[in-house]
Amino acid sequence: MNLTTLTRSLSAFALAGSFCFSQAQTKKTWTDAEVMKIHKEAYLVDLHNDVPMITVTGKDFSLRGAGQHTDAIRMKEGGMGGQMFAAFVPTNYVATNASAHQALRLIDSIKEDIWKKNAAQFNWAASPADILANKKAGKMSALIGIEGGHAIEDDVRLLRRFYELGTRYMTLTWANTNNWCDSSGDINNPKVKHWGGLNDLGKSIVLEMNRIGMMVDVSHISDGAFWAVIETSKAPIIASHSSCRILCDAGRNLTDDMIKALAKKGGIMGINFSCDFLSQKAKDANPMNRPEVVKERERIMAEVKDQQEAMKQFRAMMAKYRGETPRATLKDVVDHIDHVVKLVGVDHVAIGSDFDGIGCTPEGLDDTSKFPNLTRALLERGYTPQMITKIYHGNLIRVFSEVEKVSASMR
Ligand SMILES: [Zn+2]
Repeated sequence: MNLTTLTRSLSAFALAGSFCFSQAQTKKTWTDAEVMKIHKEAYLVDLHNDVPMITVTGKDFSLRGAGQHTDAIRMKEGGMGGQMFAAFVPTNYVATNASAHQALRLIDSIKEDIWKKNAAQFNWAASPADILANKKAGKMSALIGIEGGHAIEDDVRLLRRFYELGTRYMTLTWANTNNWCDSSGDINNPKVKHWGGLNDLGKSIVLEMNRIGMMVDVSHISDGAFWAVIETSKAPIIASHSSCRILCDAGRNLTDDMIKALAKKGGIMGINFSCDFLSQKAKDANPMNRPEVVKERERIMAEVKDQQEAMKQFRAMMAKYRGETPRATLKDVVDHIDHVVKLVGVDHVAIGSDFDGIGCTPEGLDDTSKFPNLTRALLERGYTPQMITKIYHGNLIRVFSEVEKVSASMR
């Protein structure tokens, strides 16, 4: 057996799913075809993507360029397994008590505009079994997660109906503290009334999520709220789109102690691709921190009611600063994954890109079509196909199944 044949047999062995770490390290180069095969078998289910806030305005998801980073064509090119689509409710719906209305419109857009109009590519998924069945059928899985606990308008009856419509996780807050949970986004604002984490209503909502089988998502909540959730939740929790604070000091990222606690509870965190959550250099240079940008952003949020128009104006403003600030890189993403793996093991990390919810994406991971680059980078870092499979969907299946089990025990 010559070297080429040996390499070929090793790859065949790897693709059969029985590959060990030392063998991965012996292989120095991977062809695009090998990477794509491993990538597709690993069935990447991204935990967070905000493109529904664009499709809800009527953009055709089947066309290239529907979202800035996401559409049916680029998801297919990116060899994705599935997506937990975010029903993100901006805070301007809170004052008029229209948050649930907007959440329902977004859920409708995920079902009608993303899934049903592209049913040749997507199947619906509302359980771990659905995800695995879709994988077998060669279809991408479409799932719903609500972003912003204010969507339930402080009413568990609405929470339960959102579950019935297919919502399988909810971030307890967005960047705004609501009537029951503190947010990292305004925790230092003395004008905002805070609850020391979660108040009694917040605790009852977490327990109701446990009971009905909806994953509790700690992305966006304050550190105090995180620890209150750790104490309250009966089921493993997720951080759908948060990275590591020790590598990039952003309030939205998790500290090592938080990552350890999340892992101890059996949970997962999806690494967020926003440049200023990945790279300290990018964060320090972020134009969002410039006073003139802060002022203009506040003006847009207050004056522009149409969400798409607000996003357009915001992007136009940010475009002026493009090229001035360093971007994060593919290597930064792998560094964050690797940090979690070294800290608590490969069972607690996933991908939560936040595509179409972030302004700056890492070089090499510009949009959903570029995901195979991540698989190549992980293989080159010494990750085996089995480890990549866990990161891409295996860990989610474990947590989702455990959440279902806890729910069954509480009903
Ligand atoms: Zn978010």
